[in-house]
Amino acid sequence: MFTGTRCDVAIVGGGIVGSSVAYFLARLAPAAEVVVIEPDPTYALASTLRASGGARRQFSCPENISMSNFSIPFIANADQELAVDGAPAHVEWRRGGYLFIVGAGDVSILRDNCGVQRAHGVDAVWLDADALHARFPSMNLDGVAAGVLTPDDGWCDPNGLLQGLRRKARALGARYVDDRVVAIDHDVSSANAVRLASGRRLQTGAVVNAAGAWAKDIAAMVDMPLPIEPLRRFEHYFETPNRIEPLPYVKDTARLAFRPERKGYSGGLVNSAEPRGYNFYAGGGR
Ligand SMILES: Cc1cc2nc3c(=O)[nH]c(=O)nc-3n(C[C@H](O)[C@H](O)[C@H](O)COP(=O)(O)OP(=O)(O)OC[C@H]3O[C@@H](n4cnc5c(N)ncnc54)[C@H](O)[C@@H]3O)c2cc1C
Repeated sequence: MFTGTRCDVAIVGGGIVGSSVAYFLARLAPAAEVVVIEPDPTYALASTLRASGGARRQFSCPENISMSNFSIPFIANADQELAVDGAPAHVEWRRGGYLFIVGAGDVSILRDNCGVQRAHGVDAVWLDADALHARFPSMNLDGVAAGVLTPDDGWCDPNGLLQGLRRKARALGARYVDDRVVAIDHDVSSANAVRLASGRRLQTGAVVNAAGAWAKDIAAMVDMPLPIEPLRRFEHYFETPNRIEPLPYVKDTARLAFRPERKGYSGGLVNSAEPRGYNFYAGGGR
């Protein structure tokens, strides 16, 4: 267990973002003392364990496409990349593709986005309604005018990726502390130390806010208002009795999204009108 009182980088939150930052810091700056503070090693409420693991290049913004051009090959190779003493990670990457479908009113936006993606090296296949029907005959295309398929995209097991990053980060020297950040000592331009629920104070050269849905609370510790509000989402598993062709990860403009999962599918519809706040259960409350 880490019992030191100082580090170079203190990462607040050890979910997929915090553990990824820890891994890359440990790999690229091996001399740095990197400490991840995570109160719940079971990740019971973390978003990472609730995610469906989709990784896509279908964005409108070049910066997002560039990040995916880096991260998708990384995830695809993560079993080996994150191996420790020859034992691979278990990321379960599936190169199943992503399919965005739109109605007539959104065809020009989809076409523009497809152009941006192709300009950034993405294999993005334009499918009009006939081509969609030929490729995915089980789909009911009422109200669907076109789609874009990116066959090199896919999905992974988010917990497998998290555990792989965490294990490899530790193997490279990063430390995990089972504790909660309750305050950050700071001046106008820098954060100098994190204070933990156990009473410990950890002096640090830098703080990384990787607290996910709680990031706003961490930012408030340095008097920085962040416009982040948690939004409850649901993920459902369902099956169909029909035998149909293999489907990619399918998304539409109403924010419906689903992908194959074992004998069925995993997916959900984001309700943008959901009240913001910490609400982890269907019945409300935490
Ligand atoms: C239903 C659903 C489906 C999703 N599907 C996808 C998908 O297909 N593809 C995709 O890319 N994304 C998806 N996401 C989004 C994805 O899950 C998140 O973007 C990602 O997991 C965020 O990771 P994180 O590390 O920032 O947050 P988290 O995983 O929530 O980790 C934050 C950590 O911070 C810790 N923490 C909180 N407060 C403190 C404190 N005071 N001190 C120290 N630690 C603290 C928490 O314990 C937690 O472990 C989905 C999300 C949901 C809910």
